[in-house]
Amino acid sequence: MRKNIVAGNWKMNKTLQEGIELAKEVNALVAGASLKCDIVLGTPYVHIVDVVKSVDGSKIGVAAQNCADKVSGAYTGEVSASMIKSTGANYVILGHSERRAYYGETNAILKEKTDLALANGLTPIFCIGEVLDEREAGKHFDVVKSQIQEALFHLSAQDFGKIVLAYEPVWAIGTGKTASPEQAQEIHAYIRKTLADKYGDSVANDTSILYGGSCNAGNAKELFANPDVDGGLIGGASLKAADFFAIISAF
Ligand code: PEP
Repeated sequence: MRKNIVAGNWKMNKTLQEGIELAKEVNALVAGASLKCDIVLGTPYVHIVDVVKSVDGSKIGVAAQNCADKVSGAYTGEVSASMIKSTGANYVILGHSERRAYYGETNAILKEKTDLALANGLTPIFCIGEVLDEREAGKHFDVVKSQIQEALFHLSAQDFGKIVLAYEPVWAIGTGKTASPEQAQEIHAYIRKTLADKYGDSVANDTSILYGGSCNAGNAKELFANPDVDGGLIGGASLKAADFFAIISAF
């Protein structure tokens, strides 16, 4: 179902104690607020159990930032989708550009991860987006289309309905450069059209498509005002409760 969502991606930041503190601060800020969006905290694996216990689960969901592409077994250092589900997390961020760039995650690998996330009842927040050269060459539409086609279009319409997409232009992540509201709307509308061509208007219109890339308290309102932008995936600005809450309040 299409919802407004503001999801934080803490990346590899915060000790366990700092993470619990941040989660409690966000929880306190949202406690008295009338919310117009769902909220998700994307924490490192080791924080998940404590963050789940520190927040009101009816208002704040918790996401892992990755999961294994295998079910279980001799994969030292990996964490499976079923393990994540057993912690109380309900989302998993998949295909973040940092995982694609630094850990060799291909669309084929992400297809496996997506299937395992869904099989274990986790909602994937699936990231797509182009690098600067691709944007400058006008290839950004083709890039996001092939990321979606190769990793997600094997899904049934019913399963696709469980996916949240996050469009994150790589040139905007952590750089302070944000896509303009017009750029965001243009490509979000294109993504929705791509979904409609494959699954029909109803699935396309029910899919939440988040924007990510230097989204902050100053630009969130303008970005979220676009008809095809259903919220944000927030990196740097999710690391301080007040900044994150200001973005939540942009709805
Ligand atoms: C991200 O990591 O998904 C992200 C959007 O980061 P930032 O908000 O810091 O650009």
